[in-house]
Amino acid sequence: AAEAAQADAHQPAITRDGFRILVGANASTPAEATAARALGADLIGLVRTEFLFLGRESAPDVDEQESAYLDLADAFGGERITLRTLDVGGDKPLGYLPMPLEANPFLGVRGLRLGLLRTELLTDQLRAIVRTAHQTPVSVMFPMVSTLDELLAARSLLDQVLATEGTPPGLLVGIMVEVPAAALKAASFAPHVDFFSIGTNDLTQYTLAAERGNEAVAALGDPFDPAVLHLIRATCNGAAGQAEVAVCGEFAADPRAVSLLLGLGVTELSVTSRRVPETKQRVRSASLAQSRTTAEQALLRATSEEVRGLPGVTASHDR
Ligand code: PEP
Ligand code: MG
Repeated sequence: AAEAAQADAHQPAITRDGFRILVGANASTPAEATAARALGADLIGLVRTEFLFLGRESAPDVDEQESAYLDLADAFGGERITLRTLDVGGDKPLGYLPMPLEANPFLGVRGLRLGLLRTELLTDQLRAIVRTAHQTPVSVMFPMVSTLDELLAARSLLDQVLATEGTPPGLLVGIMVEVPAAALKAASFAPHVDFFSIGTNDLTQYTLAAERGNEAVAALGDPFDPAVLHLIRATCNGAAGQAEVAVCGEFAADPRAVSLLLGLGVTELSVTSRRVPETKQRVRSASLAQSRTTAEQALLRATSEEVRGLPGVTASHDR
């Protein structure tokens, strides 16, 4: 099966009933982008730009960022890359950006919250992203959005940059859905974005109030929990044809999750590169109609165990 997946890696992933699903890769360095290309990724669905900002004395300037983003796009053969703006904060501090110590960094100033406090940092990054987007297809997305005001503030910074740099033809703008509040308000956000990308790592953490990486609560932080599935569904319902919905958290790379996610209304998956060929195969073996039935059943279940036990979810089901 692995050889078959590899052989078809560069073919599109189309369900048995004819729906095209984009399968992207999460990649943050040119080496990872090269690997993603070799493994058949349709796009890079998540670039964690933190790598450029961490472990140094000062923030990279606009030129340095632009050239790093272009290197990444080149390594990916000029296909679309999705640049997420800086997602650091309490748990990932930057030496040159002193922030007050927080008792609960995951509930504190991280992601877009930090960008909107230090707008010079976010504006520089948006300028570099827009300049990159004039040369190669780019999507930009904002992490850790909770309110419409945050999204509008970020869009207004972007609009100011576009006013001086010009609007690149292929630029798409989206937000990460990582906070339950954002999932529930997707309909209010949809007119202001081209796409949503669900970050199931954080969405699960915030839904179950179980810190990611804390072994003691790892069993609680289960993306198969029906509450997480309801929030994914809420996002897709809110987007309702106005905006595409992707999933870029690790859940997307779980073979048991693929059909479930399609059934909930997700049309793009972005996974770690080495999972791209199998994820495409998984899409090809699914039918959207059956996936929808599976998803409906999952939403009626009470526990993650019960969801995993559904015939359409078990990995071996449609192999
Ligand atoms: C997520 O939260 O699911 C995500 C993709 O972002 P990160 O893992 O970088 O927080
Ligand atoms: Mg996240």
